[in-house]
Amino acid sequence: MKITENQQKLLRQLPGVDQLLEQFMAQSPDADIPHPVIVNCIRDTLETQRNRIMAPDPALSEQGLSDARLLEMVSTAVQKAMAPNLKRLVNATGVVVHTNLGRSLLPPSVLENIVAVAGRYSNLEYDLSAGKRGSRYSAVEGILCEISGAQAAMVVNNNAGAVLLCLETLAKNKNVIVSRGELVEIGGSFRVPDVMSKGGAILKEVGTTNRTHLKDYENAVDAECALLLKVHRSNFSIVGFTTEVSLRQLVDVGARYGIPVMEDLGSGTFIDFSKYGLVKEPTVQESVGTGADLVTFSGDKLLGGPQAGLIVGKKSLVDQIKQNPLARALRIDKLTLAALEATLRLYRDEHKAVDTLPTLRMLTADRNTLEKRAAALMETLIKIGGPRLRVEIVALGSKAGGGALPLLELPSSCLKIQAGNISASLLEKNMRENEPPIIGRIENGAFIIDPRTLLDDDLPVIGAAFEQLLNRVAS
Ligand SMILES: *Cc1c(COP(=O)(O)O)cnc(C)c1O
Repeated sequence: MKITENQQKLLRQLPGVDQLLEQFMAQSPDADIPHPVIVNCIRDTLETQRNRIMAPDPALSEQGLSDARLLEMVSTAVQKAMAPNLKRLVNATGVVVHTNLGRSLLPPSVLENIVAVAGRYSNLEYDLSAGKRGSRYSAVEGILCEISGAQAAMVVNNNAGAVLLCLETLAKNKNVIVSRGELVEIGGSFRVPDVMSKGGAILKEVGTTNRTHLKDYENAVDAECALLLKVHRSNFSIVGFTTEVSLRQLVDVGARYGIPVMEDLGSGTFIDFSKYGLVKEPTVQESVGTGADLVTFSGDKLLGGPQAGLIVGKKSLVDQIKQNPLARALRIDKLTLAALEATLRLYRDEHKAVDTLPTLRMLTADRNTLEKRAAALMETLIKIGGPRLRVEIVALGSKAGGGALPLLELPSSCLKIQAGNISASLLEKNMRENEPPIIGRIENGAFIIDPRTLLDDDLPVIGAAFEQLLNRVAS
């Protein structure tokens, strides 16, 4: 490829790495930034500009490649390199258990327990009364049994791990019977048939997509059958001409043939949401009470705690699961354990749990609370933007998320915002690129902020973001 004279001139204008480094150090002598980070940023910046020259990028000028401009680019790159990749953001989507945005938030009392354990030695696997090695699970087993009514409990890294571990322990090279209507994909590559094969279990699907009968299970039971599995549908519903075998009926079949019954509850909750005006989800206590031999569920969905997979059930089975070498590979870490114990303790008083755990508070937030928050934010925005921001309160629905209550629209009071002539998608992008990022949603072509998932200190953040945006547009 032939290089033009202009390209040659621009290439010659680019300074060397050492030269830029010297200038950068002179400009920010006190910055506590590791040398290799600066050098890498300088190299990347020069490389990018060289590529632009070679492209060639018609927008490129001598002025655009001045040392001052290059230094600015390096500074921006250095700032970016020094900032953490995983960072807080504002969830204005109204999806409470949003898997992409970190699912459940932990309340201060739970965070305190993490801090207390994380920076110190602890009795993680030490039995203080016996003065010798203890079990990692003892911190939460007692309270999990207390709340759920189960004989025994253990915890692992997440619910996908819990399901895998149970299958591998009880049903390796054996048959597991599941209704065709429950062979779900949860997303993020959790598919029931795939998890079964990874656990070495042989899937015996029974029934049809919409209807599975008791006799379908009974006909499939044979000497090779190790487990009857019931899976919560989580993120979809089957409506219309349907028949489903209840957990109670499955427990009867299991008892008749001497086969354990396991239920993957998915979200899992200790609280009857119908008491709070929401749709009922099966509770962990009910599944245990109905006689399921094993129940698995997530720690960070409707439970509102840290990421974890909880297993409760019959002692003989949980003991076998604890002995499985795979349990070691899936084991829960001590920070999570500290958070989980503190979360579970809140459930000893249901009202305290609902008031304290952000996930539960957001799910049960009433119309009045949401209207007030929407009105407060609207006032802030109008003060900031005046006529340049058109803000309107609209009645829209929020979602529970996390594979729970899939058909439920939680009534919410949202803000529909228009900023000058900026399109909804550009507004969405600008908010997403704010520091901290604000993630809203676009509905019917309008940018929407749902107050259900906002925390009190998110409101000034949103105000500041719009202020900056309007200043940028004006200048
Ligand atoms: C969410 C879900 C899982 C996976 O749980 P994680 O804690 O995300 O690993 C498994 N089964 C069902 C039915 C679920 O809804």
